[in-house]
Amino acid sequence: MQKEAAAVVIGAGIAGLAAARVLADRFARVTVVDRDRLPSGPESRRGVPQSAHPHALLAVGREALEKLFPGLTDDLVERGAVWADVVRDAVVWQLDGYRTRVDSGVTLLFMTRPLLESCVRRRLRSLPQVTILDETAVAGLAGRPGERVSGVDLADGRTLAADLVVDASGRGSRSDRWLRDLEFPSPPESVITVRVHYTTRLVRGRPECLPGPGMIIVAESPPEHRRYGAAFSVEGDRWLVTLGGFHGAQAPTDPAGYQEFADSLPDTPIAELLRHAEPLTDPVAYTYPTSRRRHFERLRRIPAGYVAMGDALCSFNPVYGHGMTVAAQEALTLAECLDRHHSTAVPMARDFYRRTGKLISVVWQMAASTDFAYPGTEGPRPRGLALTHWYQRQVFRACHVSPEVVTTMVRVQHLLEPGSALLRPAMVAKVLRAARRAGKVPETRNAFPARSIDRRL
Ligand SMILES: Cc1cc2nc3c(=O)[nH]c(=O)nc-3n(C[C@H](O)[C@H](O)[C@H](O)COP(=O)(O)OP(=O)(O)OC[C@H]3O[C@@H](n4cnc5c(N)ncnc54)[C@H](O)[C@@H]3O)c2cc1C
Repeated sequence: MQKEAAAVVIGAGIAGLAAARVLADRFARVTVVDRDRLPSGPESRRGVPQSAHPHALLAVGREALEKLFPGLTDDLVERGAVWADVVRDAVVWQLDGYRTRVDSGVTLLFMTRPLLESCVRRRLRSLPQVTILDETAVAGLAGRPGERVSGVDLADGRTLAADLVVDASGRGSRSDRWLRDLEFPSPPESVITVRVHYTTRLVRGRPECLPGPGMIIVAESPPEHRRYGAAFSVEGDRWLVTLGGFHGAQAPTDPAGYQEFADSLPDTPIAELLRHAEPLTDPVAYTYPTSRRRHFERLRRIPAGYVAMGDALCSFNPVYGHGMTVAAQEALTLAECLDRHHSTAVPMARDFYRRTGKLISVVWQMAASTDFAYPGTEGPRPRGLALTHWYQRQVFRACHVSPEVVTTMVRVQHLLEPGSALLRPAMVAKVLRAARRAGKVPETRNAFPARSIDRRL
């Protein structure tokens, strides 16, 4: 890169902030443009409506962000983020039974999305080569048609020149139109219709009713049922509770209906948490219609000086908690590509899409194979679904009794091991044996009053 090179990032979400950190080491000037007013503290904002809902940051995502922003983890913990082992500290009802609880070594930090974003933003703001322009909307890409992007046109009529533009404007990215305006094709898309509903409320739980720090999940079993409830402990001794499901299974936003929905889940811990908690916010609803992947890696012609990343590149079904983690990994990939090519020309962008495409494919397939357990899911179906779903049920059942299976399963879910870790012959044998054993353990459904939640688990 030339000494005076400039970069512009569209969007100050997690993807944009992570990208800007990488660019700050490689460009003389980096400008992050966001149409929202960016608060100085951990507040929700209009441009990220999902921020009121739970956001799990997977272990590899936290490690990637820590690499980009050293000290971030300590900062988050100091501000109240909660460390928890995803097996030991998680009360999970799935496939008619509770997961066994053991030390898995897979630890997560639980916090609200606004806390994470505000800590990352503060660190970025301290870099002298980075400018954050808030309340400033991008209206299009500037450039030479058919050749390269050379900046962004702002809605207020100004143009910001740049050697590299990173589109991190989220799943609503307008770049299909913007690229067509510069005579570039827009990428083909894969879309999976999931219609996932979240209705979320922040509460303060009474200590005697809580299972300890961590999370509670109560999920109905597909294909017959499609609802779930989840509660995550977050900063300020609070719990972020969300109720919902796939394909129209939506919890009401009125408090009485909300409690009724929780009461009707297959077991009681979330209902009891809510019943004894102090509500801090009204329930708010969000519907996520489709997972959407834009295949830049398949385009014959792409512009120099431009890459899309984060949700603008691929928006994953949020229930599996992959979006921020993949965005952080994409930022590290961008750093590798810039260092390898020392340029913002087409080969750098192609390399970026090729490498991120591999990562995205793994995560996309993993999510899709679970999405299609729900009738009503539409889109490109992975192959061998009947066998996948049968084996998934054996794994979930085995997790009721087997520490080794549950640990391997969460390591796969958290992208610490490939999916093949669950398919090795010795593991398959363990899964099948444990699933048989689990079938013989009596159910504990609906048997526990709130006060005994901690004792029974
Ligand atoms: C309900 C829900 C729950 C989720 N839960 C999880 C979870 O548990 N774990 C997880 O990892 N991920 C989760 N996600 C996904 C996660 O929110 C995203 O993957 C993540 O925020 C990365 O997004 P991003 O930075 O690409 O886009 P966003 O966070 O959407 O940010 C885009 C930014 O671009 C700005 N912008 C847009 N257009 C313009 C423009 N024209 N000009 C200037 N600025 C613009 C917006 O104001 C915004 O700040 C969830 C998503 C939803 C919907």
